[in-house]
Amino acid sequence: MQRVYNFSAGPSVLPEPALTKAAEEMLCCGDSGMGVMEMSHRSKAYEAIIQGAEALLRELMDIPDNYKVLFLQGGASSQFAMVPLNLMGRTGKADFVVTGQWAKKAAQEAARYGVVNTVASSADAVFNYIPALDKSAFDPDASYFHITSNNTIYGTRYTELPDTGNVPLVSDMSSLILSETAEVSKYGLIYAGAQKNMGPAGVTVVIVREDLLGHAMEHTPTMFKYDIHAANASMYNTPPTYAIYIVKLVLEWVKELGGVPAMQALNEEKAKLLYDFLDGSSMFKGTVVKKDRSLMNIPFVTGDDALNDKFIKEAKANGFENLKGHRSVGGMRASIYNAMPKAGVAALVEFMKEFERVN
Ligand SMILES: *Cc1c(COP(=O)(O)O)cnc(C)c1O
Repeated sequence: MQRVYNFSAGPSVLPEPALTKAAEEMLCCGDSGMGVMEMSHRSKAYEAIIQGAEALLRELMDIPDNYKVLFLQGGASSQFAMVPLNLMGRTGKADFVVTGQWAKKAAQEAARYGVVNTVASSADAVFNYIPALDKSAFDPDASYFHITSNNTIYGTRYTELPDTGNVPLVSDMSSLILSETAEVSKYGLIYAGAQKNMGPAGVTVVIVREDLLGHAMEHTPTMFKYDIHAANASMYNTPPTYAIYIVKLVLEWVKELGGVPAMQALNEEKAKLLYDFLDGSSMFKGTVVKKDRSLMNIPFVTGDDALNDKFIKEAKANGFENLKGHRSVGGMRASIYNAMPKAGVAALVEFMKEFERVN
């Protein structure tokens, strides 16, 4: 069977060269005589893989030396607890901007460990915009300030970062990481589940400034302490070895294509193809305020549920998979992560044009 164009929001499409290499190395990786899944995480062969993955991520994101890179398990959702457990103890308070379900879940989880101040929310319009931030609503005494850089479900993204002064900025970059350049030094902590833009489910990357380590709340489980993982180079216990290996292959592919700036330029072209079509269409409409449009997740509707269903069904029959929108938004959503080729977006636009003509 032929591979389809997979517009899944996550787990999502991976670059074919990475998958091909993984297939080649499935039974025997390098001169180890075994597959990566079978290796001891303490072996020399595996050490080269995890250290290689970290070095590549540092290079591609230009991560300063005073930041630790951690490969953890438990998904981005575990970070909703791990961030407050490790960072909130300083003042017992944190600022949150609620721009969607993930941001809301992060805020709700943090509220179990301290006081959450909701600086702003876009819940009033089904999260179809990024709210303007009034600095007078920021708590200068917050332990950190949390944002969700790209809102996977609603298709919005920050194009300007809040100026939080000395309060460390924390970002959930699950669906943004490696899609556009980010200045790591502007953040205290960045976290991202790999399954959107970096690799398979099962590994979560945390990039954390060193001075934020070592202040975890007393009752924090050992496995939830950043400093434990940092001191053990993500090897306190068995890390998700195979997922990290795939991340390394994906990072090699990103580097080969010219790094994150080249990825961003390509993503801008891909997103423009689809947004330009949506703006000119009399059947399909984007759902997000223009200035806050995501490059990665593009929700759209026809305004007619029956027509949406027909479109999703016919798209599937034509090799365009996973275009159904999130249940909280309805309609359609095309997730066009790094690994979605421009040809895939162009083919989708052609298919939408034809659907509009016939219907
Ligand atoms: C997918 C996603 C999550 C949840 O990730 P899990 O790995 O399933 O816990 C959190 N935040 C954002 C922005 C996401 O896109």
